[in-house]
Amino acid sequence: MTSKYAVAAHNEFIAASNEALQTPNLQLALSRLGETLAAGNKSAFEKLPGSSLLRDKARAIKDETLAQLDVHLQILEAAVRAKGGHVHYAADAADANEIVERIAKERGIRRVVKSKSMVTEEIHLNHHLEQAGIEVTETDFGEFIIQVAGERPSHLVGPALHKTAEEMAVVLNERFDQQLSKEPHEMAQFARGYLRQKFAQAEMGVTGGNFLVAETGTVVLISNEGNARLTTSVPRVMVSVVGIEKVIPQLSDLPIFLKVLARAATGQKLSIYTSMITGPRREGEGDGPEEFHLVLLDNGRSRILGSPSRESLFCIRCGACLNICPVYRKIGGHAYGSNYSGPIGAVISPLYDGLKQTYHQPHASSLCGACQAACPVKIQIPELLIRNREAQHEEKVAPAGEELIYRLWSWVMRRPRLYRWAARVGAWTMGARARQGWVAKLPGPLAGWTAHRDFPVPDAKPFRDRWAALQREDIPVTHPVTKR
Ligand code: SF4
Repeated sequence: MTSKYAVAAHNEFIAASNEALQTPNLQLALSRLGETLAAGNKSAFEKLPGSSLLRDKARAIKDETLAQLDVHLQILEAAVRAKGGHVHYAADAADANEIVERIAKERGIRRVVKSKSMVTEEIHLNHHLEQAGIEVTETDFGEFIIQVAGERPSHLVGPALHKTAEEMAVVLNERFDQQLSKEPHEMAQFARGYLRQKFAQAEMGVTGGNFLVAETGTVVLISNEGNARLTTSVPRVMVSVVGIEKVIPQLSDLPIFLKVLARAATGQKLSIYTSMITGPRREGEGDGPEEFHLVLLDNGRSRILGSPSRESLFCIRCGACLNICPVYRKIGGHAYGSNYSGPIGAVISPLYDGLKQTYHQPHASSLCGACQAACPVKIQIPELLIRNREAQHEEKVAPAGEELIYRLWSWVMRRPRLYRWAARVGAWTMGARARQGWVAKLPGPLAGWTAHRDFPVPDAKPFRDRWAALQREDIPVTHPVTKR
C-alpha cells in the first residue's frame, strides 16, 4: 500500500521534471543561477575575513538556542508582552490560520497586506483568509506576480524566479488590462502604484520573521524592496507568523546572522532593509501599528527538535543550497511538488508533509555536498537526506523491491569473496556490451542512468587488484592514495 504512494509520487516528480526540462524559459532562468546568486554567495564569503568562523558561530548560536528553546520562547513571550504585544501559540497550520482569522474578524478587518513569508505559504494562510472573505494582497513584487498568476513560489528568496520578464508582463497585462512592456522599471512602477492603494486601504499587515530576538521581543524582517516597512507601519493591526525555531537569544547575536544571511542569499554585504519591530506603536511615535500580535508556529517543529533531523531547524531560508544544487538548477522549484524545494526542501518537506507524498524528494540529489558547502550555517544536508531515505525504509514507505535490492546488496558486501566475484562478473558483462569503453544501455533499474548518457566500463583490473600489486612491488604511492 505504502509503496503505491511512493511510486505515484515518484512518477509525478519524473513527469514534472521532464516538463521543466522542456520549458526553455525556465531553463534560461535556472541557467543564470550559477553566475548570479551562486557566484555572489561564493565571492561574498571569499571577501569576508574569517567567514568560516562566522558561519561556525552562527551555527553554534542556533544549536545552543535550540537546546533551550523552551526557555528562550518564554523570555521572548515576556518581552513581547512587556512591550504591549500579544503572543499566540499555534500547534499546527489550522491553529495558526484560525488565530489570524480570529484576530481579523474580531476587529472587522476586510483587507490585509502581506510581506513575503515562506511560513505563511507553508500554512496556506492566503487561501484560508480568502475563504473567510478577507482580501489578501502580497506586496513583495515576486510574490505579487505569483499571487496574480495563481502559482506558488519556486524559490525561497526569489518566488517568481521561474518567470521571465516577458512572462511577468503578460501576467500583469492580462489581469489589470495594461500594456506594460517587459522593462522591469515599467512593471515596478505599475506595481508600486497599485500596491500603494492597497497599503492605504489595508487594516491589517501580516509578516513572517527572519529572526525573533528573545531578550527584546523584536521581530526582524529582512528585505530588498521596502514593502515590509509599509506592511508593518501603515495598517492599524500587525500580525507576524513565525516558526518557533527562528528565535535567537539576544540582539548582539543578530549582526552575525545579518552578515551571513545577506551574503548567502544574494551576495550582498547587507540586505537593503532590515526592519526591527518591537511591539505596537508607542506614544510619540509617528507610525506603526496600534496592535501587534506574534503567532508562534510549531507545525511539527518540536517533533523535529527531538529527532535525528534536528539540525534542519538551523536553516535561515537563504536559498543558497538551491542556487548551487545541480538538481534544482535543472528542474526548478515546482517539480518538487512541495512548498519548500531544493536540497533543504527535500530534507524538511518529508518531515512536515510526511514521507509518502514526498517519497521522491530525498532521492532528488546526487549527494555531491555542494549544498552543505554553500550553507551559511553549515547544515549537513547530504546526511539529512540519507536519514530521510533510511526513514522511508523504517516506515515501510519505500517500494518492497528497493528494500530487497538493498538487503541483497548489503548481504553481498558482507561476503568479500562473493563481492569480488560479483564485481568481476559485472565488469565482464558490461565490457561485453561496451563500445569504445562506454556502455550505451544498462539493463533493468539501471536503465535510467543510460537513458540520457553512457556509462563508463569498469576497469578490467579492479582497484583492489591494483592496490595489492602496488603493495607487493612497494611502489611509492602519492596522493590521492597514501601508502601505509
Ligand atoms: S539549508 Fe542552509 S543554504 Fe539552504 S536555505 Fe537553509 S540556511 Fe540556506
